[in-house]
Amino acid sequence: MFGWAQYWPTHFSSGAIAGIKEANRARTRPKVKIDPMLQQRTLKALTRAVGVGLHSGQRVELTLRPAQPDTGIVFRRVDLAVPVDIPVSALAVTDTRMASTIGSGGAKVHTVEHLMSACAGLGLDNLYVDITAEEVPILDGSSASFVFLLQSAGIVLQNAPRRFLRVLRPVEVREGDGENLKWARLDPHHGYKLSFEIDFAHRVVDSTGQRVEFDLGTGSYVRDIARARTFGFTKDVEMMRANGLGLGGGLDNVIVVDDYRVLNSDGLRYDDEFVKHKILDAMGDLYLLGKPLLAAYSAFRSGHAMNNRLLRELLAHQDAWEIVTFEDEKQAPAGFLAPARAW
Ligand SMILES: [Zn+2]
Repeated sequence: MFGWAQYWPTHFSSGAIAGIKEANRARTRPKVKIDPMLQQRTLKALTRAVGVGLHSGQRVELTLRPAQPDTGIVFRRVDLAVPVDIPVSALAVTDTRMASTIGSGGAKVHTVEHLMSACAGLGLDNLYVDITAEEVPILDGSSASFVFLLQSAGIVLQNAPRRFLRVLRPVEVREGDGENLKWARLDPHHGYKLSFEIDFAHRVVDSTGQRVEFDLGTGSYVRDIARARTFGFTKDVEMMRANGLGLGGGLDNVIVVDDYRVLNSDGLRYDDEFVKHKILDAMGDLYLLGKPLLAAYSAFRSGHAMNNRLLRELLAHQDAWEIVTFEDEKQAPAGFLAPARAW
């Protein structure tokens, strides 16, 4: 997509014969590379998946396609008589009960957070997500299947600078007190890290790690976070089904916990899989901003609703953020440089 040539100092390519000779000689010299900008990324080729929606139980086909620079991530309901595009944005979130739903002009897409999390973890900026029903397929309940799909299709750099939203001052949202307290906040940070604490007062969940930190600069999203599955409690299943939710859920895509144990025969994928899934969800919810954040996120018992409230609170205060690019990628924080490693 781009060659070394464009990074030669300009006097090597200043036109005229002398310049060309100089350029030829330059090829035999050690390569002096001028630092390239940190670039946007999209897919190399399209890729498809078929599955069922976790809540709707509906069969759905998903096609992920490359998109031009500055397109962002756009969901397209291709099953409607007139297809409707829903570009992701914090303000496009219309419902946060059990999952993050985005909508535009009456068209909706439910449960976008695990796919969005994979895009955040792999640093994908531009993507079309064609979808044939109103819910993203749950696949294995984590974002590992999306990571696999995206990496198999290949990720390419594009000739446009990656735009970040840098947080300039703390922003916090808070709700309830005592046993009902929950909060989420963003603090300035040159990089992207998240810390999450849960408190379920449930013997199975409480016996695993309840707090986890993930730093994109030092950790590996694919290894440390992507495989954490969504979870549910048997005592909630009846209530959910009565509300038309969780119809596509089962032991192959949800960690199911009764009062005493995990019911999935293979047990947990990580010792602290529950709280790691909350980090996975938060990364997806926050990436609905449409741009990667430069910030430290921390949260206590937050969820889809509060994560979205945090983004709206941030955007409502123009003095709390700015958009930045890195013309010299070496100035970019760790974790944003190389495209994520393959499996
Ligand atoms: Zn989730």
